[in-house]
Amino acid sequence: MTDTPKTPTRRAKKPAAGRQKKPAVAAETAQTAAMSHDSLTAAFARQLRYDLCWDDQNEEAMFDALALSVKEQLLDNWRNTRKQDLQQGKKHVAYLSLEFLMGRTLGNALLNMQLTQECRQLLQEYAVSLETLEQQEHDAGLGNGGLGRLAACFLDSCATLDLNVTGYGIRYEYGMFLQKIVDGYQVEQPDRWLRDGNPWEVRVPQHNVTVQFFGHTQSYVDSKGRRHMLWCDTQDVMAVAYDVPIPGYGNGRVNTLRLWKAEATNEFDLAEFNQGDYTEAVAAKNQAEQITMVLYPNDSSENGKELRLRQQYFLSSASLQDLLRQWVQQHGMDFSEFPRYNAIQLNDTHPAIAVPELMRLLVDVYELEWDAAWHIVSNCMAYTNHTLLPEALERWPVRMLAHMLPRILDIIYEINARYLDEVAHRWPGDVAKLRQMSIIEEGDEPAVRMAYLAIVASYSVNGVAALHTQLLTTGLFRDFHELWPAKFNNRTNGVTPRRWLAYCNPRLTALISSRLGDGWITELGRLSALNALSTDADFCREWRQVKQLNKQALAQLVQERCHVEFSPEMLFDVQVKRIHEYKRQLLNILHVIHLYQRILSGDTHGMQPRCVLIGGKAAPGYAMAKLIIKLANNVAHMINGDSRAKPWLRLAFLPDYNVSAMETICPGTDLSEQISTAGKEASGTGNMKFMMNGALTLGTLDGANIEMLEEVGEDNFFLFGLNAPAVDELRMHYRPWEYIAASEALSGVMSLLKSGYFNLQEPDIFAPIVAAIESPSDPWMLAADFESLRLAQLEVAKAYQDPQRWTTMSIHNTAASGRFSSDETIAGYRDHIWHCR
Ligand SMILES: *Cc1c(COP(=O)(O)O)cnc(C)c1O
Repeated sequence: MTDTPKTPTRRAKKPAAGRQKKPAVAAETAQTAAMSHDSLTAAFARQLRYDLCWDDQNEEAMFDALALSVKEQLLDNWRNTRKQDLQQGKKHVAYLSLEFLMGRTLGNALLNMQLTQECRQLLQEYAVSLETLEQQEHDAGLGNGGLGRLAACFLDSCATLDLNVTGYGIRYEYGMFLQKIVDGYQVEQPDRWLRDGNPWEVRVPQHNVTVQFFGHTQSYVDSKGRRHMLWCDTQDVMAVAYDVPIPGYGNGRVNTLRLWKAEATNEFDLAEFNQGDYTEAVAAKNQAEQITMVLYPNDSSENGKELRLRQQYFLSSASLQDLLRQWVQQHGMDFSEFPRYNAIQLNDTHPAIAVPELMRLLVDVYELEWDAAWHIVSNCMAYTNHTLLPEALERWPVRMLAHMLPRILDIIYEINARYLDEVAHRWPGDVAKLRQMSIIEEGDEPAVRMAYLAIVASYSVNGVAALHTQLLTTGLFRDFHELWPAKFNNRTNGVTPRRWLAYCNPRLTALISSRLGDGWITELGRLSALNALSTDADFCREWRQVKQLNKQALAQLVQERCHVEFSPEMLFDVQVKRIHEYKRQLLNILHVIHLYQRILSGDTHGMQPRCVLIGGKAAPGYAMAKLIIKLANNVAHMINGDSRAKPWLRLAFLPDYNVSAMETICPGTDLSEQISTAGKEASGTGNMKFMMNGALTLGTLDGANIEMLEEVGEDNFFLFGLNAPAVDELRMHYRPWEYIAASEALSGVMSLLKSGYFNLQEPDIFAPIVAAIESPSDPWMLAADFESLRLAQLEVAKAYQDPQRWTTMSIHNTAASGRFSSDETIAGYRDHIWHCR
């Protein structure tokens, strides 16, 4: 955007009150409505022959035809859902998230609509399998990792629990980068996931809204003597809505994920054009569209970039304008009941700028008094915290806000001033407390603490696992907890059992349903009935057969992607997740090196042959994480090329870990590694997907691992490592060299690493890794937990060598996973935060 001031000074227009509403369905032609009554089979035939008009019916065209036909089947229910929610005055929840890691849609949509069988039958006529067509779909990788996938699981559960919930997000042209591995290094490639179009989305231009940036503020007094603020000379961007249907499981509800795309406004072009800068004006279009061009690939860390703030405000403003417009259409300009019918859930602080934006819309645009507006904001905002890592806490420089969002900064100052009065009242004379708790952080570069802003405005603040919430209320947010204890609550994360068991593991699904019926798909607690079958000989044999077949499928994936041969007879030991030091993939690699040294020294007595799989993406700017990937690949190269290791050990690094890869990985895993430094992983959700699919967990007392252990019992869980208080205590006097000296295994590993054995052609590249492990300020304390991990892995080997024992443990894990259904989590949000039915 240029800095040239525009000729007409635009002011935020007051929307016409009580404008005649048009039925939302008006845009649908009668013809389309009639079509959606076709059966899936008829729709597919028509799509192929007439709508797509492809001469050559290849698999891509067939996927498109199928996806479009499935979407058609949803249209009536989608429309009816909207209509009924309005009629019934059902409370609406807006789930605001910068990330929705949806993965593929086809297979999951068919499952939820219970059309999978019909679909398989119709494809027989075309001599193509459903699986082949499913492979054609690009993952919608609009997220980094756990936080984005949680949003996706929540949408599935909300629809399945018949809740009126809309997901609001950004339609990034480029999602999460594609990861290639070249010479062992991560190479990022752009993910143009929309290149071939997206058959699931519907562009809905009637919901367009305008979002303002830059400009300046100005006050004026109206004819009644009331002071108003104007935000003028702004540069405006249009937000265009793209809707994606979210079908519930077998209940006919279809919710909406509304993704915003940034486009240039007409006025924007015109202003430039009038000055004769035609080409400038056209080029400026790109500036506007940049906002939704690319997802920031940082997981658990903020990067402070201006474009990221623009994305956050763009999403927040567009979504809130959309909500208020709908409200006014239905209820006119009286907002007093707004919080009774609306909740806004902030998925981390990424959309926390929605707090001052909702104030701005209510005060400046809809002309409410400050107190009335604040009453509304503070009774509908709810905030979910996802991390304690200091590098992830968002703080936007005041300077940046003053330039980009001047009116928003004014409002933040006003919120802060009023709130600090409350703090001063609670702690009279305590200036340090005021400074500590202020939304504005003072210093050389004053900044807005987005988490504080979110807490101050929200009626609910939740953590995502019991330990995480406890650490929040006693640590990071202690003062706030003291001030407003009732705001704080825990909602342990979950994952949807539709995608993460019923869809991704059809063999286990069939086995479970053959004994329990299929009620567990929506009431996962029913899986506890499997405990009674955990020693049933037939059932155990079938359970093992299923795992064996799933391991074959995973081995095939590893073969294709890594060119490493995994033998399904061996133990499959898996760690897939974003690469981060706190998740300690490095600790896993050290253990693999140790096993390799045992093999080289002939110490294979009691050793369990195993295949170790590591996968995950590193943030492109995170040098240490990228070096860990390189180490994993180099170690893999040495081990897999060594014939002495072949009967005992394989290591593979799986490139481009994403949702669709996980759908093959978790069903085929024996052992799930959840080995983060205690106190660092807020919850984890990968851990739950593995547990549901009958993997056993090797884990620390961190995040939701603790609750998983509680559910399944110590006998069915491989626990190791320091707990969170012990980690904190040790930090003061941590001497890693003592742990290394005391462990023959670890000193051996460190010597081999330092010898350059894994980097013969690349001297010293792993020096930073060695230094990190040996540093007394290593926050992740690898050396301290190594021995404990090694011993736990010996227990794993012993247990695996008793197939009956392992199978029983595996069944107990699936049986105990009911609490980690996101249906449970969402029922908690519904009853304790949203208060909706
Ligand atoms: C579940 C999932 C995650 C989260 O994994 P954690 O182990 O909880 O960090 C990340 N990425 C993908 C693709 C997932 O499916």
